[in-house]
Amino acid sequence: MASYYLAITYDVCEHQNLYQDMNEYPIKSTDNLMEKVKEFAKQDIAPVVKVYESNSSKFKHIELFREYKFKEYECNCENGGGT
Ligand SMILES: [Zn+2]
Repeated sequence: MASYYLAITYDVCEHQNLYQDMNEYPIKSTDNLMEKVKEFAKQDIAPVVKVYESNSSKFKHIELFREYKFKEYECNCENGGGT
């Protein structure tokens, strides 16, 4: 059975209880997965990117495959709050 992968970028702010999904990116293979995930995170400035696996290209049923965190894209609320 073939596997399909979907990366979802998340906007996260612990201070505002924010955990919102932003964009979805279908992935054809897990070759260089880390590189692809890095690109998505950079593009969306997403501190969290989750990669889900599905046995159908329609992603009706998905399971978490891997989760990546990017400290450099975390919000800055804590440090002085905004500007
Ligand atoms: Zn914040």
